[in-house]
Amino acid sequence: MCPLCSDTASPYAQDKKRDYFRCPTCSLIFVPKKFHLPPPLEKSLYDYHQNDPSDAGYRNFLGKIAEPLTKLLKPGMRGLDFGSGPGPTLYQMLKELGFPTDIYDPFYADNPKMLEKQYDFVTCTEVAEHFCDPKGSFDKLTGLVKPKGYLALMTLFWKDGMSFADWWYKNDATHVAFYSRRTIRWLEKKYGLRALHLDERAVIFQTD
Ligand SMILES: [Zn+2]
Repeated sequence: MCPLCSDTASPYAQDKKRDYFRCPTCSLIFVPKKFHLPPPLEKSLYDYHQNDPSDAGYRNFLGKIAEPLTKLLKPGMRGLDFGSGPGPTLYQMLKELGFPTDIYDPFYADNPKMLEKQYDFVTCTEVAEHFCDPKGSFDKLTGLVKPKGYLALMTLFWKDGMSFADWWYKNDATHVAFYSRRTIRWLEKKYGLRALHLDERAVIFQTD
């Protein structure tokens, strides 16, 4: 069953390590639960991610979402970086640009109070591909954004026509959900969102 829209999904691909399914309705490509890593092992792999707020290359990478997002924001808007990871950086960049941003991360900044508020914008970078429960996560994320607010996601999108067998992004054992443009369209309809910015690895939605 598709973990985003609950429709019946069919086998899509298989490699040495895992099976992949694809949903006919929302087009999500996902790895079945039996291949998901146990959370302690998952965290030990995230601990290796050497993300560092002073790393210019990493800042440049995050600029691919910060730049289009901050063009849409108005002075004084406040946000949340959901899934800020072991070296929170995007929230610092946004703060420096004048947009105070909180952080939340289930492994590194597990402060449930942050999820009890609503924000003008929520960022979620290199996180959605780790969602073991995409429906639950999108319910939560969209609920965190105020009306006419912004939800900015960064994940590498699957493009039909590419060779899935050769797609490096699927080879990370912690990546279990892959999205394409058709999934973006489905999310727009389901949650009343409008994609104002969309490129190969970033989408910025506005809520109704
Ligand atoms: Zn689906």
